[in-house]
Amino acid sequence: MIKDDCIFCKLANGQIPCNFVYENSDVVAFDDLNPQAPIHTLVIPKQHYETLEDVNDKELLAKLMLAVKEVAKIKGAKNGFRTVINTKKEAGQEVFHLHIHVLAGRPMKWPPG
Ligand code: AMP
Ligand code: ZN
Repeated sequence: MIKDDCIFCKLANGQIPCNFVYENSDVVAFDDLNPQAPIHTLVIPKQHYETLEDVNDKELLAKLMLAVKEVAKIKGAKNGFRTVINTKKEAGQEVFHLHIHVLAGRPMKWPPG
């Protein structure tokens, strides 16, 4: 399903022009508008799922993770990368279309804030 008022649905399905870092039949990746690291790309399903809690499709979850690895390779994150999925408000989710952050290009701190 694609949600009419969802910005990531519009980006993923061509209603808003966007340079994809990576695309396959189910997944797209594009750079974050407000990058938190030299490399900051979002990997999302083309279909609308509000949060990780809403996805039970194992194949889709695997495709998302494989796309993360592709993105890290394409972006040249050779010293490592961090993957983040914020799920619901308390975790910091602001856009309610599932997305995986891929961050790289600087040392990362732990624990995250
Ligand atoms: P989260 O807080 O995990 O929901 O992350 C949402 C992310 O989406 C933030 O890092 C935003 O900078 C990013 N974002 C919001 N709108 C856009 C957009 N139109 N294009 C690219 N990234 C966006
Ligand atoms: Zn959506």
